Amino acid sequence: MVRVRFAPSPTGALHVGGARTALFNWLFARNKKGVFILRIEDSDFQRSTKEAEKTIIEGLSWLGLNWDEGPYRQSERLDVYRKYAEKIVQEGKGYEENGALIFKIPPGETTFNDIVWGEIKIKNETLKDIVMIKSDGTPTYNFAVVIDDHDMGITHVIRGEDHIANTPKQILIYQALGWEVPKFAHLPMILGPDKSKLSKRHGATSVAEYKNMGFLPEAFFNYLALLGWSPGIDREIFSREELIELFSLERVIKRGAVFDIKKLEWMNAQYIKKTPAEKLYDLVLPFWKERGWITSEENIDKEYLIKVIELVKERCKTLVELANFSDYFLQKEPTYDKILVEQEIRGKEKLLSEVSEALEGVNPFSSVNIEDCLKNFAEIKGLKLKDIAQTVRIAISGKKVTPPLFEVMETLGKERVIERIKRWGIV
Ligand code: GLU
Repeated sequence: MVRVRFAPSPTGALHVGGARTALFNWLFARNKKGVFILRIEDSDFQRSTKEAEKTIIEGLSWLGLNWDEGPYRQSERLDVYRKYAEKIVQEGKGYEENGALIFKIPPGETTFNDIVWGEIKIKNETLKDIVMIKSDGTPTYNFAVVIDDHDMGITHVIRGEDHIANTPKQILIYQALGWEVPKFAHLPMILGPDKSKLSKRHGATSVAEYKNMGFLPEAFFNYLALLGWSPGIDREIFSREELIELFSLERVIKRGAVFDIKKLEWMNAQYIKKTPAEKLYDLVLPFWKERGWITSEENIDKEYLIKVIELVKERCKTLVELANFSDYFLQKEPTYDKILVEQEIRGKEKLLSEVSEALEGVNPFSSVNIEDCLKNFAEIKGLKLKDIAQTVRIAISGKKVTPPLFEVMETLGKERVIERIKRWGIV
């Protein structure tokens, strides 16, 4: 039975790289009907915080990466690490120095066959003896990770490329304890557009930031899955189930994977488009609240808001755009740009008054009826529909560009439309 783990150190946010490691472990476990374990590597008391642990757990939950066992915490297993370190010292494979327990590198060569990188071989003489337990009683990463992976029955260690150099050291400790060595798969680094390691200067790096920028967890999940892995199918959008079905470590791509925000945005737009408005409602609500456009849950006209989402969601890359593009549906008064008003509304006050009068007669206030009414009106006035339409659009939304006007008007409803047009007309 396959058993894998995600083993974050709770010293900061859950970064894109960590999330990708967690995701690949999860996909592999689900594909093999195995077990996915969460282990918090918090033995570095100076740097570990409960807060970081909480953010990491929140990030995993947001992505839907559920674990079958854990979270285990290294801080709860300190006596276990000591026990094995003492055994190693007693057997003459290590020694004590200044209160620390140290593993002695044996002579020879260490080889392993990485699932992604192939054979990796090093001469042991290039390694320094390994501190197992520091003089303050805490274990080091390289030691604790071996004890834990063994105790937890880990069959495959899937983690970032930056740990390749640690692997021979860990293998020597397995061998010293007479334990079976798991298989290793080191994932390629995630790079920025300039091909250097992804970092803050490339933009957002934590999962929480992407959540706050309005990415859907499903889209982020899909995007991360293709970051350094390819199913070999010419398509970009895959459901969770498809990814589970298709995933294999053999198809992990060895070269660094470039994090491309434009592609992520494109993918997010696809997911927003195909997500039902009812579901988007719950996701966009916090963004509306944040902007002060919804202040109390009580007087929410959910049916109206769902229609708004239906109309706006077609053109949005993120939930932030979905919130922002729907401003004039939620605000009592749209925000009007002075210059735009000067250019497009001044001098047309009389026209707008007449339009509002004509619209009074439209029943029911449906997009088809609105269109008929405005077409008629234009004809009678000897004007072009598109000129009237643009003036009306700006009067009711404050914007030059909106979803199809007659649908916007239907959604806003007769009362709001007439009130807004009248505001600019001659009283
Ligand atoms: N705590 C280590 C890290 O966050 C885990 C590495 C491993 O998976 O062995 O990098």
